[in-house]
Amino acid sequence: MGILDGKRILVAGVTMDSSIGFATAKVAQEQGATVLISNFGRALGITKRIARRLPETPPVLELDVTDPDHLAALPDAVREHVDGLDGVVHSIAYGNPETLLGGKFLDGPWDDVAQAMHVSAYSLKSLAMACKPLMAPGSGVVGLTFDATTSWPAYDWMGVAKAGLESTSRYLARYLGPEGIRVNLVSAGPLKTIAAKAIPGFEELDDMWSSRAPLGWDNSDQEPTARAVCALLSDFFPATTGEIVHVDGGFHATGA
Ligand code: NAP
Repeated sequence: MGILDGKRILVAGVTMDSSIGFATAKVAQEQGATVLISNFGRALGITKRIARRLPETPPVLELDVTDPDHLAALPDAVREHVDGLDGVVHSIAYGNPETLLGGKFLDGPWDDVAQAMHVSAYSLKSLAMACKPLMAPGSGVVGLTFDATTSWPAYDWMGVAKAGLESTSRYLARYLGPEGIRVNLVSAGPLKTIAAKAIPGFEELDDMWSSRAPLGWDNSDQEPTARAVCALLSDFFPATTGEIVHVDGGFHATGA
């Protein structure tokens, strides 16, 4: 008996087995869910291979969250496998590491900032709305953030995009709440994924977490974050929306 027994969940943003989305898909399957995963572009082939490493090989859908045609086609693509969705996971972000991250804040060009905002923040709304026709009251959307309440070394414009994501999730919670759809985020500590490794200087954050997180922090263990995502998708948070749950070893609660 798992906390997601009988639930149908789409996890968007799985590339490698290091992806937070992969760990989420794994925990969701272990907890009884039927899982679909998605990715886009050239990495789709990698995702299809990596999908075989899950306990059950899930369908892999193509979804670029900035492509209106992909978003419009998503409900039918999902219906080829399941007749609705109880949960949607947004595990997606992108910011050009050459121009926006690693100390480039003051020179970041607007076109790249706009792309980062589109892929990393606006897309939570796009994905939720694309999936809405499939979702009944009681279903949930969960996204992943990196605490955007302060500035960080290296994170630069991705931090601004995460602030946008956090606000987007609160507005989505406001607008989708009356339809019984919950929208929440998990704020994870630094994890060694492809996205994180692409950020020049991200190891500075690792060092801070090692010395300050009260519970300690294992930056190669995606499972605690995945478990929190699955808990938020389960029936154990029926009255929670617009929330950000920290899975960071307690780092956010320490001043120094
Ligand atoms: P990841 O494995 O690289 O996952 C990010 C995913 O986003 C990849 O599958 C990537 O696909 C996908 N993506 C990028 N642009 C897309 C688009 N236009 N349409 C659809 N998918 C797109 O890295 P991750 O660390 O697991 O990231 C997952 C989420 O967790 C992100 O929101 C990230 O900001 C957040 N997060 C990460 C950390 C951390 O330390 N790693 C901490 C807190 C929060 P490609 O690989 O094909 O580009």
